[in-house]
Order: sequence, then C-alpha cells, then structure tokens
Amino acid sequence: ICPEVQEEIDEFMASFRKLDLHYKIVSKTGEGTFSSVYKAIDLRYDKYINEWDLDERTAEYYSPRSKRQRLNPREKKVKYVAIKKIYVTSSPQRIHNELELLKDLTGSKNVVSLITAFRHLDQVIAVMPYFRHVDFRDYFRKLSIPEIQLYMRSLFTALKFVHAKDILHRDIKPTNFLYDCAKGRGVLVDFGLAEREEHDGVCPCTRARGAPPKPTAPVRGYPKNDQRPSKRANRAGTRGFRAPEVLFKCNRQTTKIDVWSAGVILLTFLSKRFPFFNSPDDIDAIIEMATVFGRVKMRACATLHGATFETGIPTISEKGHSLSSIVEWATSRPKPEAGRRGDSLSTEEKRALDFLEKTLDLDHRKRLSAAEALNDPFLTNIGT
Ligand code: ADP
Ligand code: MG
Repeated sequence: ICPEVQEEIDEFMASFRKLDLHYKIVSKTGEGTFSSVYKAIDLRYDKYINEWDLDERTAEYYSPRSKRQRLNPREKKVKYVAIKKIYVTSSPQRIHNELELLKDLTGSKNVVSLITAFRHLDQVIAVMPYFRHVDFRDYFRKLSIPEIQLYMRSLFTALKFVHAKDILHRDIKPTNFLYDCAKGRGVLVDFGLAEREEHDGVCPCTRARGAPPKPTAPVRGYPKNDQRPSKRANRAGTRGFRAPEVLFKCNRQTTKIDVWSAGVILLTFLSKRFPFFNSPDDIDAIIEMATVFGRVKMRACATLHGATFETGIPTISEKGHSLSSIVEWATSRPKPEAGRRGDSLSTEEKRALDFLEKTLDLDHRKRLSAAEALNDPFLTNIGT
C-alpha cells in the first residue's frame, strides 16, 4: 500500500469508533463517485485467528461452512469483506435508500448482499462480502465469444433477480459488475442510484401529454422562443450507459433501462472499444446514438416519449448503420472484396450481434427483459 493510502486507512480506522475490533483493513479496493471501498479481514469470522496469524497467502475467498468443516483445522482461513465508506456528503436519504435496497436483495449469488452496516457520527459504512475481480480494461478485448456469453449470463441473472423485486439499478456499467474471469462469475454491486419501480411499466409520456407533437420542419440552431414546457426526469446514471428514454427524459423509466446499459457492455466487448459512447451531456449523447441508429428510429423513439428529434448534422443518416457494420468498422476488419457487409463476421459473432440488436432496441417496449434475455439462445447455448 502506498503511504498516502495507508494514511487514509489509519485515519479512517482511528476516526470510526471500535471498528478495529471487528475488521482489519488490508487494502483499498476501489473508489467510486460516492464512496471509498476497502478490503478488510473480518476478525469475528474465526475465533482462532489472531492478528499474528494473518497471512495473505493462506487466505481465500469466503468458504461456506460445510466446506470449512472439511478443512485442516490448522489451516488458517480468512474471510474478506468489502467495507464501503459512503462519503459523508451523501444525503441521509440516499444512504438509507442504498442500505434498504441492499437488505432486500439477499439471495442471489450474482448480487452483492449486505452483511451489516454501522454508523459513527456522520459516517456510515456498509459491510459486504469481498469479491475478487479483474479490472474490466484488462480483459474486455481478450474474451472469446463463449466467455462473453458467460459474462452476459451472469449479468442478466443478476438483473433478472433485481428486476423481479421491482428494483431498477440505474447504473449498470463494468465498474459496478465485479467479474472474476477465472471463475466465470460476476456480482452486481453499487445500489447507490437504484430505485423502486412504482408503476405498471407502461411509458405514459405520450399519453400524459396528449397527442405527440407533430414533427416540425428542422430549424437551424436552437429555437429562440421555445414555448414548450420543460421536462424533468431522473437521469441518474453514468454517461455512455444511459438508455434513450433516460436521455429523452421519460418520467416513467422502467427496468429496461438496465437492459440497455447491459447491451452497451456487450457492444463494448464486440467492438473492443471502451467506453463506446462517451458524450458528457445528454444532447451530445442523443447525437452519438443517432449517428449509429439513424434519424428514422430516433424520431420514432423521441415521439414515444413526447419529444421531437430533429438535427441538421449531415453525418447522421436516415437509416443509420447496422450494429454488425459498426462492429466490423470498430475492429478494423478488411473490406470484403465482392462480399457484403457482415461477411467478415464469424457465425459466433453474428449470433452475438442478433442478441445485441434485441438488447439495444431504442423502443423499450420491444427491448428484451432480463428474463427474456436469459431464455435467448445466445445465453442458453453457451459455446455451441
Ligand atoms: P460507488 O457508489 O462509489 O461507485 P461502488 O459500490 O461501485 O461505489 O464501489 C466502488 C468500487 O469498489 C467498485 O467499482 C469495486 O472496484 C470496489 N468494490 C465495491 N464493492 C466491492 C466488493 N463487494 N468486493 C470487492 N470490491 C468491491
Ligand atoms: Mg460504482
């Protein structure tokens, strides 16, 4: 550990009353927008473990009781936990929401669970099992299609579980899905932006605002006297992963927004580009999306959410590009001489792209649900 991080850890331990009786922090494992996460040894896990016996080399990921009983009693076993120190600047409601949802989400091996939580003064920490994982940037270019299938199956299994409880995660992206390539298993973390879906899943944007506005002739530049009422919607999430309905400020967003973000991860694998979409603001993000999907589909999608889509940007075509051609272009495949677009793709890749089309449908009503995705041949017949 570098001296600065050690200092940070020491300060944290000293400031949080009695935490050192329960945990010994061994390293810092991550840092997000709203927290710092530390890897720690749960000192209560096994009474025979004392400070002097702790040895990283003999430690392993949490072993269930049945397996533990078969272990040589002299072999020291350590249970690692992840301690999420939520920044004190987060609102109490936010912290409460995250802990409450986590508590409801126990029971899936692909979703993180909450072991316990503590508060000391204004500092709240959440304690979760620690999951060994690899940094996404280290493997996303290297996975074979069957390995990508395993990853996506893990992710959709997590989503199906979360969505069945009517919870939207809202921030599906690689840093929130901890994946262990060797085990082919991933765990969904970070419910800091998650929320409960409080409706029947029908998008009422269009209904609530009467007939959708008639598309007007494109106006150059931004309208000067914009009479339209402004629209507000939850747009929490991460740039590049926001679903079109989030960008068009739909105020009844459904669990399908997570499916879109999972689709963006799949697109990242297939195109070997990360991040694939990268616009910092929503208008640019809509333009980025339009460059791929084209004007026709974007207009239809906007109308669905009571908005209009018009642009004078000449590089945005009517029909857009197929995801196959985007992947071919992104991975610099040689242009087939007399062949057609898509000819450079393997059968495996074509199957992946078929699945991708269904998860990246601009129309959330037609987009697969997590449960449907798990029944898709792409996720049921792995490696065949
Ligand atoms: P934030 O809300 O600040 O984004 P996260 O819950 O996403 O916080 O955690 C930030 C990072 O900490 C993750 O990207 C991951 O690297 C690491 N991390 C979080 N939870 C765990 C865990 N249970 N096991 C191992 N590492 C974790
Ligand atoms: Mg995070």
